[in-house]
Amino acid sequence: MNVYDSDRMSELLTPLGYERVASPEKADVVVLNTCHIREKASEKLFSELGRLREFKKRQEAAGGRMIITVAGCVAQAAGEEIVSRIPQVDIVVGPQTYHRLPELIARAEGAGNGPVFLTEFPVEPKFDHLPTTRSVRGVSAFLSVQEGCDKFCTFCVVPYTRGAEYSRPVAELIVEAKMLVEGGVREITLLGQNVNAYHGAGDHQEISSLSGLIERLADVKGLARIRYTTSHPRDMDLSLIEAHGKVPALMPSLHLPVQSGSDRILTEMNRGYSVDDYLRLVDRLQSSRPDIAFSTDFIVGFPGETDAEFEATLALAARVGFAQAYSFKYSARPGTPAASKGSHVDEAVKTKRLMELQSLLADQQKKFNDSMIGRCLEVLVEKPGRHPGQLVGRSPYLQAVHVKPGNGSVSPNIGDLIKVKVVDSCANSLGGLVDSRLCADTLTKEHAF
Ligand code: SAH
Ligand code: SF4
Repeated sequence: MNVYDSDRMSELLTPLGYERVASPEKADVVVLNTCHIREKASEKLFSELGRLREFKKRQEAAGGRMIITVAGCVAQAAGEEIVSRIPQVDIVVGPQTYHRLPELIARAEGAGNGPVFLTEFPVEPKFDHLPTTRSVRGVSAFLSVQEGCDKFCTFCVVPYTRGAEYSRPVAELIVEAKMLVEGGVREITLLGQNVNAYHGAGDHQEISSLSGLIERLADVKGLARIRYTTSHPRDMDLSLIEAHGKVPALMPSLHLPVQSGSDRILTEMNRGYSVDDYLRLVDRLQSSRPDIAFSTDFIVGFPGETDAEFEATLALAARVGFAQAYSFKYSARPGTPAASKGSHVDEAVKTKRLMELQSLLADQQKKFNDSMIGRCLEVLVEKPGRHPGQLVGRSPYLQAVHVKPGNGSVSPNIGDLIKVKVVDSCANSLGGLVDSRLCADTLTKEHAF
């Protein structure tokens, strides 16, 4: 979502004569768009600011200026701390107010004003004030459809930094999707902190669910692939499960964060589902779309997590068999209920648990990739590869695929959907040949993997 937001910020500044530059050293305005989700992410900000402060001093010594802006969730949560630690910061702007960046820069340009702050949640959503997107870069794009969160998992800062749940109206999203497709986009990933809690206004004052939005997007001519992330297990309603079986453009891969395999820890986290609920959901999705692949997020070392509870997480991972997963050590976030619990797990124990889980997840990912060998996958060509004649694209399961032309094949273009015979598999990618003869038996079938 920060990638999407950064693009929108850059679009806002383009009409004022700003353009993106490759390095911040001589920039007039630098925007650091920050993430507060774990401590490590937040701490990165201060090392970056230390570096920028030196560039700014050099610019000023040469008679120039540099406006340093801190945007995003760290700005929202810790704006005061940022300016007191690094007084060279000119602007602090939250994730729901960045549409006012042009005005904030104008204010910061006024001499001697001190830092300019804008972190209150606005009454009107920022989307009402943002220009329609023009940032088309590549064939795959993000589209923010939902923001904020009302779920208040006990470990998480999102409800405090991004604010309450908000869904954009369907009509506005269709316009933005069409603009993206006209610019060459073939694949859209719908974004939201809780994307499947989407409940946007439809065209006739009805409320549309995410499946309704997906069905409308599937009708946008030229849009070949739809994905969405991140979804919450509690919000996987029947219509969305069925959409996976009904809508060919909806890709057969789903990121469904589970966090833990222990019912007690899930309750302590306030996740609102049990291990059994999660496993049943996986089954139902597999019934709807038998070739669906799952990815997930885990947190290890949540306060009070015992060895047995961690073992339960390993057991859940072994049971589901994830195609890909992110796993993190629990990080205490200021102001969240879990942070004030007395039973924090020892750092060394967290590290050991994380390594054990990650080793299992890496095996699962490799096994999943290996299972692709010999299959014909539909690949969306994204860019040229490093080697002459090589292309890089994505499989329906989000795997990067390095493609070489096979015998007698025509050479594909960026943005083409091609059938690729997978001949090789690594930890994080696949290798394949594009050759119509190799994949001839599957060419007429849709989603025949
Ligand atoms: N809304 C999504 C997750 C968004 S945050 C959901 O509910 O599943 C992305 C991921 O960051 C989470 O899935 C979680 O695994 C991780 N995360 C969030 N807060 C964390 C914390 N305090 N410590 C460690 N990991 C955390
Ligand atoms: Fe955070 Fe996701 Fe829980 Fe919301 S549902 S509080 S974003 S982890």
